[in-house]
Amino acid sequence: MSTYKCFHCGAKIKSDDLDKRFVCIKCGERIFYKPRTKMKTVTSD
Ligand SMILES: [Zn+2]
Repeated sequence: MSTYKCFHCGAKIKSDDLDKRFVCIKCGERIFYKPRTKMKTVTSD
């Protein structure tokens, strides 16, 4: 199971919640990113 984060409002969304509708459950945006578990700094990879 994956957890995504909405770029727009910052809501954390589980892949289960997304299901077929790949939109944010809070704001309705469709921009997500997948937070990395080992992220040290918030910079480009
Ligand atoms: Zn959102």
